Amino acid sequence: MATDPASLLREHGVHVTAQRLAVLRAVSSHPHCTAEEVAEHARAEIGTISRQAVYDALGILADNGLIRRIQPAGSPALYECRVGDNHHHLICRTCGRTADVDCTVGNAPCLTPADTAGYQIDEAEVIFWGKCPDCLAASQGSADDQARSPRISDSDRQTG
Ligand SMILES: [Zn+2]
Ligand SMILES: [Zn+2]
Repeated sequence: MATDPASLLREHGVHVTAQRLAVLRAVSSHPHCTAEEVAEHARAEIGTISRQAVYDALGILADNGLIRRIQPAGSPALYECRVGDNHHHLICRTCGRTADVDCTVGNAPCLTPADTAGYQIDEAEVIFWGKCPDCLAASQGSADDQARSPRISDSDRQTG
């Protein structure tokens, strides 16, 4: 992080505590981490910190725009320090690996619905779901194995 976390908290009007600093550092060095992972990293840094304290700190940091919370379907919330650039995410359906992808247009909302139904739209949060390169390579590898193995049922069908 370019700015030191303590002054970052002050700039955003957030009272500086060791716990909030530890949580902010954990999110900063582990983008797209879950609250559980944040707790682990924060504990490694400052010793004991309760789960509730981690959730409280995450809530305050998110409310004050220091961190961003994304909530993919079927996954716990993920936290990151990259805020305010309207970037989107690529998520692997197989292993859950999450990567940043720049905003398609450059500013929010980068998508407009066909019909706004009278809503004033200020954001479109996009998650692109698919398979990450590693899982893709793994699945192609197993497909090759199947192709190499003898296909008895096929030859049976041809002769019979
Ligand atoms: Zn994957
Ligand atoms: Zn991100």
